[in-house]
Amino acid sequence: MFESLQERLGSILNGLTGRGALSEADVSAALREVRRALLEADVALDVVRSFTDKVREKAVGAAVLKSIKPGQMVVKIVHDELVAMLGEEGVPIDLNAPAPVVLMMVGLQGSGKTTTTAKIARRLTDRQGKKVLMASLDTRRPAAQEQLRQLGEQVKVATLPVITGQSPVDIAKRSVQAARLSGHDVVILDTAGRTHIDEPLMVEMAEIKAASNPHEILLVADSLTGQDAVNLARNFDERVGITGLVLTRMDGDGRGGAALSMRAVTGKPIKLIGTGEKMDALEEFYPKRIADRILG
Ligand code: GDP
Repeated sequence: MFESLQERLGSILNGLTGRGALSEADVSAALREVRRALLEADVALDVVRSFTDKVREKAVGAAVLKSIKPGQMVVKIVHDELVAMLGEEGVPIDLNAPAPVVLMMVGLQGSGKTTTTAKIARRLTDRQGKKVLMASLDTRRPAAQEQLRQLGEQVKVATLPVITGQSPVDIAKRSVQAARLSGHDVVILDTAGRTHIDEPLMVEMAEIKAASNPHEILLVADSLTGQDAVNLARNFDERVGITGLVLTRMDGDGRGGAALSMRAVTGKPIKLIGTGEKMDALEEFYPKRIADRILG
């Protein structure tokens, strides 16, 4: 396991107890450790840079309190700044629009989009009494459509019947029409991913958006994504315009750095986290918990 940041900073800074204020040199030494911890947690490099700049501003000249050790003080400054950068907790999915409210799920293949679609559908059904319709727009992989249908059966949420040969845009339009006719409150569109971001994917997402007027566009991303997290989030946000993030595989042993990277580049809230393969493994986002994890 990694040595915790708290321990590392302790060994660098604790000789300073009783020395008045943190100097530029003390802070620089501490920030080298902070930087290392963030990179180990897979936070993207440019996010690490802007983060350490902010911490430097707050820490240089800060009075070394008698009651706590200097290392602990820097850890607190770092922790508070991480929590601030990770953003607000408990931001709900916004359903405040005329029915049917369309939620569009976007992301790379394998990120957990289909699973998350069904988890969200289940949550809105069970907790908010919403009538939800799910539709798979993945015409490239028939197995994906079948996967959503099966998950729909499992969570007892309707899925749009598949008509072979329809384009993703046609399916999106048909979903909204079907929901309107049968009185569904919410439509969740599970779009097709790719193994990496490419132009056709972005064009397809833009077309689906134009055809279905989604109220939320949620980027589903694997929390184990490393330095690519920034590119991924930036591309989807610039090209499609996301309204929030869902991070999956938070049950894995990653340190959660992607959360910070994606939040920092998009400024969009992390709305939910996936914590397992089961349909109830979807939780609220608590920035303090992720900050603790990043710090180790
Ligand atoms: P998609 O290609 O983006 O639709 O991805 P899927 O929804 O098919 O998910 C890919 C795999 O990841 C499946 O085996 C899921 O069960 C699994 N998965 C999705 N979310 C989570 C999660 O939060 N934790 C874990 N451990 N596995 C997940």
